[in-house]
Amino acid sequence: MTDSEKNPYISVIVPAYDEAASLPILVEELSAAMTGHQYRYEVIIVNDGSTDSTRGYLDELAGKDHKIKVIHLRKNSGQTAAMMAGIDHANGTIIIPIDADLQNDPADIPRLLEKIDEGYDVCSGWRRKRKDNPLVRTFPSKIANFFIQLITGVRLHDYGCTLKAYRREIIKEIRLYGEMHRFIPIYAKWTGAKVTELPVNHRLRKHGKSKYGLKRTIKVILDLMVANFIQKYFQRPIYVFGSFGLLSFLLASSTFCAMLYYKYFGNKSFIETPLPLLTVLFVLIGIIAIFMGFLAQITMMTYYESQNRRSYFIAYTRNLD
Ligand code: UDP
Ligand code: MG
Repeated sequence: MTDSEKNPYISVIVPAYDEAASLPILVEELSAAMTGHQYRYEVIIVNDGSTDSTRGYLDELAGKDHKIKVIHLRKNSGQTAAMMAGIDHANGTIIIPIDADLQNDPADIPRLLEKIDEGYDVCSGWRRKRKDNPLVRTFPSKIANFFIQLITGVRLHDYGCTLKAYRREIIKEIRLYGEMHRFIPIYAKWTGAKVTELPVNHRLRKHGKSKYGLKRTIKVILDLMVANFIQKYFQRPIYVFGSFGLLSFLLASSTFCAMLYYKYFGNKSFIETPLPLLTVLFVLIGIIAIFMGFLAQITMMTYYESQNRRSYFIAYTRNLD
């Protein structure tokens, strides 16, 4: 084992949007957790277009502490994009995203790192006793987790927990969109990574307010469909569109037969039964709409990848080359 394997360099990524009240405490807790174990580390705090005093605080902090690296995004781009900005600039061999709002506990980081040390590529946090509104957050998230398990075949209890640990090679290859940061362990598993999970502490949000509600569950479900589609069909969309075409032919021939049947045996002329037509129409429209969505997603990805574009824009950075 080389020295850097025994004592790897760790990048902690903190997406922060209007978390001025929590950040100073988080920085304290992080440094306590990391220096206590004598880790070599950097903390990359991504200011996701905050409108409170976050910007000034971070600039001052970066001036004092060179382990703290700061990225200011020009505008609010969402948690996943902010996380991606941090990951893109991370130098660590192990990458650990954590929420800025103190709901995750930095004291859990050493335990996650032990799992990586055991040989896992990804260790995902599991908020076993989650401290969020049960009705609009915890319960919908349980349902979402169930479906994610079912569709992806990757068994974790809690995909949405930000606190996770990744080996650099795993995460650097994955590009993230929308609410997709929660699917990194799934993509990782699909590429053959060893994935595990660990119960972690979860705390009530004391300062500021949550940026999310029920709407995100819907976004997550849509992202899940896209993720599943990309995994299965990205290189061969003809399977999808072709099957759709065949199915549509099948439908057309059965309605055609029914139409003939009614005309010659049911004593109804072609125009006397509009209902089958309507049903077919609605089914087709629904399916087409979903597939147009997939198509749009592919177009979007091609656009970003081919032009090497990012889903965020950096205004300026501190302590980064
Ligand atoms: N966040 C962000 N950009 C956003 C929304 C949220 O960087 O547009 C950050 C936020 O500051 C926090 C983390 O993402 O550190 C999780 O957000 P939040 O606590 O609101 O989500 P919840 O814990 O309620 O799921
Ligand atoms: Mg939170």
